[in-house]
Amino acid sequence: HTAVVWFRRDFRLHDHTALVHALHWAKERQGKLLFFFHFDPYFSNERTYHHEYFFQTVEQFRQTLRQQYGIHVHILHGDVDDVFVRLIRCTRMNAIFFNKDEVGHGKERDDYVQALLQKHGVEVYTYDDAHMHGAFDVLKADGTPYKVYTPYYRAWRKRPKRFPLSIDMDLLSAHMLHITPLSEDDERAFTRWLSQCTKRWERTSEQDALITLQHFIESALPNYDKKRDIPSVAGTSRLSPHLKTGTISIRTVFHAVVQQFGNGYDEAVETYIKELAWRDFYHMIYAHFPFTKTEAFIEKYRHLPWSRDDERFQAWKEGKTGFPIVDAGMRQLKEEGWMHNRVRMIVASFLTKDYLIDWRMGEQYFQHMLIDYDEASNIGGWQWAASVGTDAVPYFRVFNPIEQSKKFDPDGTYIRTYVHELAFFPSPHIHEPWKSNFNINYPAPTVDHRLQRQRAIALFQMKE
Ligand code: FAD
Repeated sequence: HTAVVWFRRDFRLHDHTALVHALHWAKERQGKLLFFFHFDPYFSNERTYHHEYFFQTVEQFRQTLRQQYGIHVHILHGDVDDVFVRLIRCTRMNAIFFNKDEVGHGKERDDYVQALLQKHGVEVYTYDDAHMHGAFDVLKADGTPYKVYTPYYRAWRKRPKRFPLSIDMDLLSAHMLHITPLSEDDERAFTRWLSQCTKRWERTSEQDALITLQHFIESALPNYDKKRDIPSVAGTSRLSPHLKTGTISIRTVFHAVVQQFGNGYDEAVETYIKELAWRDFYHMIYAHFPFTKTEAFIEKYRHLPWSRDDERFQAWKEGKTGFPIVDAGMRQLKEEGWMHNRVRMIVASFLTKDYLIDWRMGEQYFQHMLIDYDEASNIGGWQWAASVGTDAVPYFRVFNPIEQSKKFDPDGTYIRTYVHELAFFPSPHIHEPWKSNFNINYPAPTVDHRLQRQRAIALFQMKE
């Protein structure tokens, strides 16, 4: 008996739902397991930060398994039909285990692969793993999805939370099938792709993720409710890239945080848990309303006459809008493939309400640049900022980039870190450098915020 464990966005050994079940299956049948990764041209054909970070994580996982346990993660490269037919032929597998996707391209692929494998007589076992609660677990009493976060959260919070599962590594080693790589050529293609990466990302392993969590709990969690909005301090967990690639399990994060403060109420812990629930909420929304990748959730805002001004879009992407907090955020994104949540809200609001540019253009740019890119959270975040999504910021409450800057980066530390032209600029005017007489090589503001705010509101009022 042979079963394949298909790794997808779960590059870890702790609390890996499909792996735990696969091992149980192998133990009962005296069977063998083989680890597999599908190097899919759907992803490899496009070279984005997010794909490079992802594939580097895969390679890190393969190296760790090889070095620590002598386990090989086999790779096949090609389209779904070709790859899975080859996999069946090479392994003669009886069963496959994987953690399934409930949204987007991943869901389409899973449904297709499942049918294909079943046609070939392979038993298919799939699991919910990436979220605390799946997209169909927390619904209203009448079985329909929540559209507002707060009642969803109340129901979400009440549900029992499964504890992380552990794996017996000796038992796993005893059940591994050791064979030569299924295809040396395909594995070489993967290595070649990696060698052409534009950036080397660090701290991509499971161990790095667990250390990040521990460090967050000890240092920032106690003040999370007070510091999470200040981009110049390490006030958040920075676990999002790890949650994206699954080098850490969401249940491990949840229970580690909750246990830290016992059963009593703790504002910092509750605030953090609410963020984890936002992740599930947007995932649930996207699963039930898949059209939101390209259409506004709110029907009357589906055909707003957004601008597609390329010159302004370039200025935004390059961090040259003339608004320091916006430019700092966009430059952080370019340098680090990550941006602080408060600043994501500011730059998204700026693109849609100050430049009046289509939120979908911003969503796509983030898709390329974010190492933590998560389709559901990104769409949710963009539609929130553009006031076209479920439970979004009302269109008349337009963020003022200068006020936001003064409030959340009062002394300009964050701005100075990323906008090098302003590195030595004195504090009082750093949020509005055009008000000083210093001669600096920094762009003048590209728009008048007051005017653009009125235009943005008028855009929405046309549809009221
Ligand atoms: P923490 O504050 O430590 O939060 C812990 C975890 O909770 C995060 O890792 C994340 O998984 C989850 N979380 C926190 N805030 C949110 C939120 N608002 N929505 C959904 N989940 C949340 N997050 C992504 O993971 N991928 C994206 O592609 C993404 N795109 C975004 C786009 C926009 C326009 C906005 C406004 C937000 C976006 N977010 C996205 C949400 C949020 O900005 C990031 O999850 C957060 O900045 C990650 O940093 P952290 O791990 O330190 O967060």
